[in-house]
Amino acid sequence: MAGLLFALPGVCNGYASTPVFRQEDAGDALVRLSPHVSVCQDTVNGVFIEDTGRTLVIYGDPSGCVEKADMVLFTHSRRDVVWAGRKLVEGGAESIVPRAEADNFTKVNDFWLSFVNRRYHDYEQQTTKIPTEPLKVGRAVASGEQISWQDTPVRVLDTPGYTRGAVSYFINVDGLTYGFVGDLIYGDGHLMDLYSLQDGVAEAGIGGYHGYAGRLGDLIKSLRKVIDQNPDILIPAHGPVIRNPKQAIERLIQRLQAAYANYLSINAGHWYFNERYEVLAKRVLGTAFRVDWMPYAQVIEKAPPRWIIPIHNSRLLLSQDKSGFLIDCGSEAIVGEVTQLKEQGQLERLDGVFITHYHDDHTDKVSELVKRFGRPVYASQQSADILANPTAYRLPCLTSNAISNLTVVRDGHKMRWKEFDFTFYYFPGQTLYHDALLVEKDGREKIFFIGDSFTPSGIDDYCLQNRNFLHRGMGYFYCLDLLRKIPAEHLLINEHVLEPFRYSKDQIAHMTQVLEKRRQILADLFPWDEPNYGIDEQWARIYPYGQQAEAGQYVGVTVKILNHSSSAQVYAVSLTVPENLQSEPKSASVRIEPREEAELHFRITIPEPVSKKLYVVTCDVEFDKWHLRDWCESLIEIHP
Ligand SMILES: [Zn+2]
Repeated sequence: MAGLLFALPGVCNGYASTPVFRQEDAGDALVRLSPHVSVCQDTVNGVFIEDTGRTLVIYGDPSGCVEKADMVLFTHSRRDVVWAGRKLVEGGAESIVPRAEADNFTKVNDFWLSFVNRRYHDYEQQTTKIPTEPLKVGRAVASGEQISWQDTPVRVLDTPGYTRGAVSYFINVDGLTYGFVGDLIYGDGHLMDLYSLQDGVAEAGIGGYHGYAGRLGDLIKSLRKVIDQNPDILIPAHGPVIRNPKQAIERLIQRLQAAYANYLSINAGHWYFNERYEVLAKRVLGTAFRVDWMPYAQVIEKAPPRWIIPIHNSRLLLSQDKSGFLIDCGSEAIVGEVTQLKEQGQLERLDGVFITHYHDDHTDKVSELVKRFGRPVYASQQSADILANPTAYRLPCLTSNAISNLTVVRDGHKMRWKEFDFTFYYFPGQTLYHDALLVEKDGREKIFFIGDSFTPSGIDDYCLQNRNFLHRGMGYFYCLDLLRKIPAEHLLINEHVLEPFRYSKDQIAHMTQVLEKRRQILADLFPWDEPNYGIDEQWARIYPYGQQAEAGQYVGVTVKILNHSSSAQVYAVSLTVPENLQSEPKSASVRIEPREEAELHFRITIPEPVSKKLYVVTCDVEFDKWHLRDWCESLIEIHP
């Protein structure tokens, strides 16, 4: 590398302007790390390597202090990072992107147009935090390839994990080895979140929906590859510069393994997938580690009582006078079998349907069943909106079939049906929008229909996108509390499991303790002030997620923010709308009490005529130390 062109002070204050930097835009955020390398620590880190008046940029320029660059290196395609490099690339800099994620830069229009439909029945759970506008790619690279800038070689290493196809770059400058690792690590052994890692694990035959942080194995491998490069300084996309790479990485790996071992030990999937869970454990924890698996539920019956008829993943309650009450209806086959029972005379009439949760395999054919039998459909206040307006949500396994005319019951509502006493409960296990039904027959047999929330091996939280909160009194803490309160001799029925089962008191206490421990592990793992930000992608969301509009019209969107923090927070929100659209207001802020959700309302005017079939609106959220760019999105489809 040629000699130093100009001297950057340690901190940019008072620094005279140069042809390259407009330091007044960067202020205190610009820090020099070595004679040729400085970093602008803003909403993302922008790294500038200078030589003879030319600049190589990594990630981008978050504060607008570089006028011109030769090249911008992107480690991954997350739009909360990519935005920072866009202006430089549009101004002529060559963009270098990971080959495995190149389409996320160039083919974004195709992605979003197809996602209008692909978002239903989604079992892949991959991030949609990719750009909403295409970005020109200069060169797409992968492991082993070398880039050269001003005779300085840049080594490329595939480092999948946080995203599927990320790369890291290593450069020797000023006698130091710098590593640029994207979001593979944050600060001293932290990680931004776990939900971004959700993925299938082919080796264990586990699909994306069941793959809790499925890329953890890849992430750990990538972190070890980074150590092998012997970096002196790591600069991730977000957060502090890391000057102790080896210790920070080792700390992160330990925390990740602790979190994963804790997760596996009481997970519902151990019942479904059995020895395949050993494969999952080995990949992340290594061969020496033993998972402290919870023994299966203390009581496991062979089959339900005779008055409960299993029909695929529905259950039909049959009274003595041959009346029926159905729990869930997710397939044509279920409608067919209920119809057949009626035709054969085993079922005289159907009196009602109860929905445990919104997932497509429990709801897809409810409307069709109602068309045929014309009976009320029961759901809780918490579930009613997603069942009636699934299109307003971005969640896994979403149905596109809305259910109208719900009979909404409050938590704890009691109802006598034939010889049975029903108690309806809100039951936020497996997902935030989930209910349960306690059925007591003549005060003797007590069956608690808990949807997908538990199996004999534990809790069903393998899909991080389902919003299982780890606040005391919420999520599985709430469900376990309820299991303690309902009659002790109850049996649980999960409709994917034939065998009714019951945990012992000790098992319920054990699961609660494991979740308590998990709160601590995740508090250490994430950089947020409260661990739930790292497991709940939808703490900030735009409602509705999808809607249709006409040219010349305006539509309303609401930004909903759940304050996971333990203290009140002020959240500043601004909408980014595509060219020609207008948002009113452009930004707003709100103070939210702990664990409360608040709403900010915006009005978007659609131009006339329109130039696109689909507009993607995103929003920035600022609170605490965070300024998250283009964090969540909403789709506005234009009527032809
Ligand atoms: Zn489900």
